[in-house]
Amino acid sequence: MKEQNVFVASPEAKGEAKKLRLYAIIGWVVAMGLQALSIMKLISDKTLIALLGAMVVILAIAFFSARFWKKSNKLDPTSEKNALRFFLQNQLGAIMGVLCFLPMVISIFTSNTISGKTKAIAGTAAAAAMTAAGVSGAEFDAASIEKYTKEINQQNEAAKSLNINANNVYWSKAGNKYHAYKDCQYIKGKSLSNGSIKQSWEQKGISELCKVCSKKAAKTGAPAKAKELMETAN
Ligand SMILES: [Zn+2]
Repeated sequence: MKEQNVFVASPEAKGEAKKLRLYAIIGWVVAMGLQALSIMKLISDKTLIALLGAMVVILAIAFFSARFWKKSNKLDPTSEKNALRFFLQNQLGAIMGVLCFLPMVISIFTSNTISGKTKAIAGTAAAAAMTAAGVSGAEFDAASIEKYTKEINQQNEAAKSLNINANNVYWSKAGNKYHAYKDCQYIKGKSLSNGSIKQSWEQKGISELCKVCSKKAAKTGAPAKAKELMETAN
């Protein structure tokens, strides 16, 4: 019974995650290539401006790659059971961000063909870019199968307490909340998907009940439940 409640990403979510991971990897390959080229061609006093420009481009690519990567992990999270894999998969954005600049930082500081001034400017800029890429690539709120499973169960409990049928909720294609009532003002007239709270999560990553539906349920559903309980008591 409990096994059935474990979160499983839908084929659509897995497909989208796969696409985002591919974008991220392509981005990192390009950023690494640009870094190699910059190290070979641009570490000199004459090309300082070009080197700084290359850093900006590499930082932008690393930033977006990490964003794609992090989004993919939200859609198709890994399990916490394998700690090493869990860490690597969630922090790959930070690791790659650092690697997009670390060889450059080392090359600049160990170069004996550039002036002290160039070394100070380029080295400081590269170290700052490396820090920015690492921090922006880090995942501070890692998703996991276990975490999602727990959150879905909490949502189911909350729905139960509001007397909402957790197996029959609605969500629209563009929305990021699920609804208890088909005629809710936010989804009226839109094409809707319908299923369990767990399915809304697995297919769309929806994790929250609409506020309007929640209020309505508290007004109508909960008293009905209370009445029902009283009747059973009698
Ligand atoms: Zn609603």
